Amino acid sequence: MTRMLIIGPPGSGKGTQAERISERLGVVAISTGDIFRANVKGETPLGIEAKKYMDNGDFVPDSVTNKMVRDRLNEPDVDNGFLLDGYPRTTAQVDYLDEILANGDEKLDVVLQLTADDEELVHRLLGRAKETGRSDDNEAVIRHRLDLYHEQTEAVVAKYAERGILTQVDGIGPIDEVTNRVMQAIKAAQAA
Ligand code: AMP
Repeated sequence: MTRMLIIGPPGSGKGTQAERISERLGVVAISTGDIFRANVKGETPLGIEAKKYMDNGDFVPDSVTNKMVRDRLNEPDVDNGFLLDGYPRTTAQVDYLDEILANGDEKLDVVLQLTADDEELVHRLLGRAKETGRSDDNEAVIRHRLDLYHEQTEAVVAKYAERGILTQVDGIGPIDEVTNRVMQAIKAAQAA
């Protein structure tokens, strides 16, 4: 049973590594960004609301995001553990997640942070923009998303570091190599 988070700046490869961790550990990966994008595509009320923020690189308000995560974590496929990707991004979301988990008498085992420097990330994301045409992958929006990461999400990382459950992995390098580092870091954290 593993309950874990993957945190990293935009473009750090969180989604790719989350899929691989999910396969290897047999836990469901839950990406708030993917859930939002699926809703945007389906033009659901949630998607229409979220799109206003996502296109500008802003965070979707907690009133929308928190409830969506709570509902998702109540689904039966989460019984064997989970890997949350892209949540929590603010300290208020950390508090909310704490409450959800405390209600189920559960706690996080590992928080994995992928690190990479800003210029490398901007370069990668501009490349991704050409391939995927994601509407939030243009340079001004990318820089804004990076600023939000530094301003808000680094405080989330600090909170988990204080709790002694943070493990950091260098996200620069070939994808397979990063996956090896990630799997080793998770193993070491679980053995600790
Ligand atoms: P991501 O795919 O994780 O980069 O997320 C894409 C976008 O979805 C973000 O730029 C936000 O607009 C929104 N989003 C994803 N997760 C969250 C979250 N935990 N809180 C607020 N907004 C989020």
